[in-house]
Amino acid sequence: MLFTITTTHQPATDLGFLLHKHPARCQSFKLAFGAQAHVFYPVAEPNMCTAALQISVDPVGMVRNRRGPRGERGTLDHYVNDRPYVASSFSSVAIAQVYSSALNGKCRDMEGLVATPLPLEATISVVPSRGGEGLLRELFEPLGYELLLQRHPLDEQFPEWGESPYYTVTLRATTQLQKLLAHVYVLIPVLDNEKHYWVGQDEVEKLLRFGEGWLADHPAKAAISRRYLKYQGSLARQALERLVVEERLSAADEDSPTEDPREEATEKTLSLNEQRHGAVLAVLESVGAQRVLDLGCGEGRLLRALVKNRQFTEIVGVDVSHRVLELAAARLRLERMSPMQRERITLLHGSLTYRDQRLAGFDAATIVEVIEHLDPPRLAAFERVVFEFTRPNVAIVTTPNSEYNVRWETLPAGSMRHRDHRFEWTRAEFQSWARGVAERFGYTVRFLPVGPDDAEVGSPTQMGLFEVLSEAQK
Ligand code: SAH
Repeated sequence: MLFTITTTHQPATDLGFLLHKHPARCQSFKLAFGAQAHVFYPVAEPNMCTAALQISVDPVGMVRNRRGPRGERGTLDHYVNDRPYVASSFSSVAIAQVYSSALNGKCRDMEGLVATPLPLEATISVVPSRGGEGLLRELFEPLGYELLLQRHPLDEQFPEWGESPYYTVTLRATTQLQKLLAHVYVLIPVLDNEKHYWVGQDEVEKLLRFGEGWLADHPAKAAISRRYLKYQGSLARQALERLVVEERLSAADEDSPTEDPREEATEKTLSLNEQRHGAVLAVLESVGAQRVLDLGCGEGRLLRALVKNRQFTEIVGVDVSHRVLELAAARLRLERMSPMQRERITLLHGSLTYRDQRLAGFDAATIVEVIEHLDPPRLAAFERVVFEFTRPNVAIVTTPNSEYNVRWETLPAGSMRHRDHRFEWTRAEFQSWARGVAERFGYTVRFLPVGPDDAEVGSPTQMGLFEVLSEAQK
């Protein structure tokens, strides 16, 4: 499969900066299953530049390595299939790997260019579309592309055999490169019927992450989610629900937890989760909070502890993931609570990066192991939502202390504790962030270790306790 991107933006060779690939070089990359990707520039002139990504796969290796319940196939399929030639979900994996910075909107040298709409033309050959030209138009035209389609006959020498479902697709638009890559990343697997790996929860996250800012408004969002998630009904429903929330909030969001056995396992040895909730509870008790928000409540472990304590008269759990709220409702046995108990607790579906009137006026808010799930560019929105609009008297924020990771034998060096973590901070990093927030929004902040406090690297969890400044203190 060949994926070319051409721009006439001047100087056109800036494309090399955006893609983090030097126009004068040909670079090769190893992909999974023995496949390879090559990036080169057939044209690199000041007024026109084309980057080409060519992916060659080993069809046998790829089919043989297929996993998952639907993985079994006839033997002939191992040797005769269209995988080497068509753009498939594998191409998306390659794009994510080879053009990772550009896909994530990062460009060290030319940040302004990332945000600039450029005249772009992308050609993908070839794309399978069993839904024909109609499907291709339905997917790409609402995104503002002019579409040029060339359908290939089944066999050039035997025109009477008719047309194949394969197209060379050219997309033209003036748009940001990052957007174009995200569109292609999501829509190629939508067009392809096959998927080389098993679809799981993290595919929902990827769909939403790379669909951010456009998928919620796409008229075919339901079909896109269904096909991207390979007709896994429950995943597709989950993705759609979250897209609908996003649409309602009129922008994009992301995030939901993935049950990562690694995090569970690493932390179980210390029962750190319990220690964390114990510490949070102790602080809430000591400050005399009665009306409490648990922001990013997840499956409701902390909520369950809060419900047991009569000091807390109103408890509200908020999470962006509908699925974990369902788990929380089950864990709390909301259904079977007495009416009096039931009145004390509310679960709300919402995102911490959008202002929400329902959250104003509480004594305290806990934000336990949540911030590290936010994309760094969304942190500023989160800060305003929590500290400016929600504005609890007390806010308790916990996050991993990355210095402590070296003490975990099961954690490979340099890796984070959870695959959905966008960052993990050292104590200095967390404290500098927290002090900045406190200063900007009129809070004091102090820090408490949670878990065994190692002389050298500190405790596994770090807690920031924010208290709103009184008028006299200001
Ligand atoms: N506080 C819980 C769960 C931590 S996991 C506990 O201590 O066990 C992080 C949680 O934050 C997940 O449930 C995830 O869905 C939620 N989350 C991530 N981004 C969010 C956002 N923008 N708004 C609300 N919740 C979010």
